[in-house]
Amino acid sequence: MADSKIPSHLRTRGSMEATDRKQEYPPLPNPLEVGVYDNHAHLEIADGENPLDFREHLARAEEVGVKGVVQVGTDVPTSLWSADVAAIEPRVLAAVAIHPNEAPELHQKGTLDDALYVIDDLAKRPRVVAIGETGLDFYRTEAPLHQAQRRSFVEHIRLAKSHNIALQIHDRDAHQEVVDILLKEGAPERTVFHCFSGDAELAAILNEHGWYASFAGTVTFTNAKKLQAALQVMDKNRILIETDTPFLTPQPHRGKPNSPYMVPHTLRYMAKKLEMDENALAEQLTKNTFQVYGRWDDNPVRVRTNPVTGQPWDELEPSPFHES
Ligand SMILES: [Zn+2]
Repeated sequence: MADSKIPSHLRTRGSMEATDRKQEYPPLPNPLEVGVYDNHAHLEIADGENPLDFREHLARAEEVGVKGVVQVGTDVPTSLWSADVAAIEPRVLAAVAIHPNEAPELHQKGTLDDALYVIDDLAKRPRVVAIGETGLDFYRTEAPLHQAQRRSFVEHIRLAKSHNIALQIHDRDAHQEVVDILLKEGAPERTVFHCFSGDAELAAILNEHGWYASFAGTVTFTNAKKLQAALQVMDKNRILIETDTPFLTPQPHRGKPNSPYMVPHTLRYMAKKLEMDENALAEQLTKNTFQVYGRWDDNPVRVRTNPVTGQPWDELEPSPFHES
């Protein structure tokens, strides 16, 4: 695929953290026999000594039985990127949103409504299957700015419902209030707690309302006893799996760059905890994933032909929102 207009990366993880990210990617795990999907990844973030671009991530994932990815936006540029990649790449579906740690800044600049307008527009695209990630983060954002987060979260809930697509929630240290807002506002039919971080009590609340818990590499960490207890409480038809690439790499590679091809480590750990056969769990996770987002080929990528050369075009027209 020569010089596509879609850039490989939009930012680097190194610029987001003080830590040295000169790390190698871990080796590929043994392949899964039953295919699964990574429900949440940020492939636009470069990480490690030799960053992988989205096609390299996807190729490695396929080698180990991870057949596709939900690529998740966190602001306007990354949401556009996610929707653009999904439009040309059969292994990618997109989620679009303003992240709870981005919303307060936009609110202060007076541009949150403009950003939400773009998200609303992107949500009309056929391979955009979720509004996310949105929610509340009381860990990284200070109390005076929580009101802007709440308003943004409510607007995103409304968007998910008006487009009848899934909602992916980022909930950090805000379990009770996330639940309260969902109940007050009326949760979308398919509501997912991405990188679920609750305990057995929150898992029971999710079961009660038919909401989904998406488990990331954090469930494999030795100090994650409460999270592991929550996994055992969740209804089997309400669990999902994700990497949150490039963050939260599962054991035994915690601290290294993450990639969708690391899903088998998390899946095998979950299967052991649930005393389930690995293939049976993979089958269940894929069934649940399709229930939330549909199948990756429900709205196939359009292969367009250049009328002059007769060759396929593998790139989009630049989106009107892209900065030149
Ligand atoms: Zn994320």
